Amino acid sequence: MSKFLSPLYSSLVEYVPGEQPQDKKYIKLNTNESPFPPCRQVLEALNEKETARLNLYCDPESKMLKEALAKQYGVKKENVFVANGSDDILNFAFMAYAREDGCAFADITYGFYKVFAQLYGINAQIIPLKADFTLSADDYCGINKFIAIANPNAPTGICLPLAEIEKVIESNPDNVVLIDEAYVDFGGESAIKLIDKYPNLLVVQTFSKSRSMAGARLGFAIANEQLIKDLEKIKFSTNPYNVNRLTQLAGICTIENQAYYDKNAKEIIASREFTTKKLEELGFTVLDSKANFIFAKSDKISGEELYLSLKERGILVRHFTAERIKEFNRITIGTLQQMECFIKETENILKEKNL
Ligand SMILES: *Cc1c(COP(=O)(O)O)cnc(C)c1O
Repeated sequence: MSKFLSPLYSSLVEYVPGEQPQDKKYIKLNTNESPFPPCRQVLEALNEKETARLNLYCDPESKMLKEALAKQYGVKKENVFVANGSDDILNFAFMAYAREDGCAFADITYGFYKVFAQLYGINAQIIPLKADFTLSADDYCGINKFIAIANPNAPTGICLPLAEIEKVIESNPDNVVLIDEAYVDFGGESAIKLIDKYPNLLVVQTFSKSRSMAGARLGFAIANEQLIKDLEKIKFSTNPYNVNRLTQLAGICTIENQAYYDKNAKEIIASREFTTKKLEELGFTVLDSKANFIFAKSDKISGEELYLSLKERGILVRHFTAERIKEFNRITIGTLQQMECFIKETENILKEKNL
């Protein structure tokens, strides 16, 4: 840290992304990316002609991309916001809607919420999940704070029924309730259908998980027109060109080829069920996941030891050190072949350690 950094940020603890080691080839089951490449049409669209236009600024309003998303979700273009990954939107939302008197989110959830709260000097009410890692909607009813809920949640994968989500939205009419649906395409139920009913509902989704575009950075929000206007105001006050030319194009092309991504999501769901069953046969506890990852622990081997042993064998999973979840690992669901390999290596590790 230099002596020039504003004291506002001297104690800020930044978000730590999952490792992206460049030293050797791993089976990467640690950052919830899709194991599948973008569809062929996306690859073809990002051609020499389009790349040659990188000297020109992109459309700051992302008009065509918004229109495509609006059509896909049966809303108006004015209900859609796009940004440089959904992290960009979370940032804008905390900036715009969380006030000093506070915001609220779960103790075990996406790690970025805490960082944004700290970044903007906002008191965070951290609400523990129940012992079984489910979220109790009642804990959030009428609390009168900006609320962020990941549904399905990360890193647990557990999905809350939409009726529970609705209770939270309905009982906090004077505050924005942000539902982070990064994983909704793997079996969750989206809150998008509620946006006309609740002007305080902000639904956030991403192209990073089910749409194979993590490296291109594209996220979107769907909400009441007024909320979208707020987000546009913040965006045009920070970085009007936050979604680059090639990403806008790739996004449109992705939406046009939804069938390919639906098929991939189906395959991932099938591999998730396969992996869950195999781990359970090995004595693991696996939380009920509606995401493209599972959260699992064994009482034979510690979370850290399993993580390290798998890494030695070329398989990366995500291990968190927080007390409540340190015996777990979060395992991204890759292709069926990758998951067979993961299961085989896990079996070998247990065998070699005589567990
Ligand atoms: C991955 C993830 C994000 C961030 O996605 P990007 O669009 O890549 O920024 C947001 N929320 C949750 C819960 C996630 O797991």
